[in-house]
Amino acid sequence: MRRYSAFAIAREAARHHQGWERAWKSPAPKKSYDAIIVGAGGHGLATAYYLGRNHGIRNVAVIEKGWLGGGNTGRNTTIIRSNYLQDPSAAIFEKARSLYETLSQDLNYNIMFSPRGVMMLAQTEHELRGWQRTAHANKLQGIETEFIGPKKVKELCPIINLDGPRYPVLGALWQARGGTARHDAVAWGYARACSDMGMDIIQQTEVTGVRRDGGKVIGVETTKGFIGCTKLGIVVAGHSGVLAEMAGFRLPIESVALQALVSEPIKPCMDVVVMANTVHGYMSQSDKGEMVIGGGADGYNNYTQRGSFHHVEETVRALVETFPIISRLKMLRWWGGIVDMTGDRSPILSTTPVENCFINCGWGTGGFKAIPGSGWAMAELMAKGHSPLAEEFSLTRFREGRFIDESVAAGVAH
Ligand SMILES: Cc1cc2nc3c(=O)[nH]c(=O)nc-3n(C[C@H](O)[C@H](O)[C@H](O)COP(=O)(O)OP(=O)(O)OC[C@H]3O[C@@H](n4cnc5c(N)ncnc54)[C@H](O)[C@@H]3O)c2cc1C
Repeated sequence: MRRYSAFAIAREAARHHQGWERAWKSPAPKKSYDAIIVGAGGHGLATAYYLGRNHGIRNVAVIEKGWLGGGNTGRNTTIIRSNYLQDPSAAIFEKARSLYETLSQDLNYNIMFSPRGVMMLAQTEHELRGWQRTAHANKLQGIETEFIGPKKVKELCPIINLDGPRYPVLGALWQARGGTARHDAVAWGYARACSDMGMDIIQQTEVTGVRRDGGKVIGVETTKGFIGCTKLGIVVAGHSGVLAEMAGFRLPIESVALQALVSEPIKPCMDVVVMANTVHGYMSQSDKGEMVIGGGADGYNNYTQRGSFHHVEETVRALVETFPIISRLKMLRWWGGIVDMTGDRSPILSTTPVENCFINCGWGTGGFKAIPGSGWAMAELMAKGHSPLAEEFSLTRFREGRFIDESVAAGVAH
């Protein structure tokens, strides 16, 4: 595949952009593969990419029922940070954040990583003590964060109102190297690199069953027929429970819709990401000028991939005290994605009761930021049977009571 470069752009400009190749091929499925990944979201594609790049396993298919990146990967608010409290979470999210720093160069695809800084506001005494504790924990974990006071918050984000009557801003946990990236580009970049390694990305093909020989997986039934495999990776976010049932085991997971919205575009006014967890809302400004606003998850289990009016009202109402300017903005559109939530709000990266079948799920409301680290660990797990980054996230933790409780730590996980 031809590399993208400034020279290539100039060459194509001179010949009316007739020479660009397709970014990835659309092959018919082969009879069998060394590894099949179900789900062409960021996590599935990153798993395939690192299987090829780090472990030399390239006879791989990624099977997607819709279009690649059309699940949560193309629907999220793109916040990237690694300031988690628990050590296993901090390790995998920091691995991901550091891989994001050079991902555009590694993939030869501009993922528009923007380390503009992420601040998580402290708006109650309890939250203030919580973020100070996280800043100390991050120091021990080697993650660069700091607790900053209201004056610094105002300097970094001039449109913020510090003196809200209900929830004044008392400070914030600040991660200067956190930020955002273009979500579709992450999926497209990994897909192009996988295709370039000879892997097959098979879109518009639904996995409808998992075929086993005794306790061992031997392939998948799909809408395009049976496809054999030696190893199977299930990476389908909100549909994890459905796929696990096909394979013959159960997951401690729930599927709910999570929603977000964007405003009309306005002039640049905010160049950091702000999360306000007490009132529950978070906001950043996109390169187009829209204010990107994240809301909450539905309060009941569902598979509804769309937004609803009451979330728009609830989220804007939550944020308007801290960001009075949004009271005058028109909201352009809103949407939803189906996220997969575990009880401790931490992911599952694990072997399963079925031999050669692996699962990567449970990233819930916060898995975009984890994509490179999760793919790295999942590929290692599938290739070698274990991965230091994935060890603590095994399925057995639920039986053994070894929870990695990020919901208590953060209250929110985007
Ligand atoms: C509104 C919203 C805001 C968010 N904000 C953030 C944020 O700011 N920061 C952050 O870090 N995270 C955020 N997240 C979470 C993040 O988007 C997800 O954790 C992450 O994208 C999950 O990626 P994935 O690859 O596991 O899943 P997905 O991208 O959902 O991919 C799974 C794929 O599996 C496919 N699939 C399902 N069933 C089958 C089948 N039977 N056969 C074949 N294919 C199948 C689906 O079609 C889908 O494409 C947000 C999520 C939402 C919805």
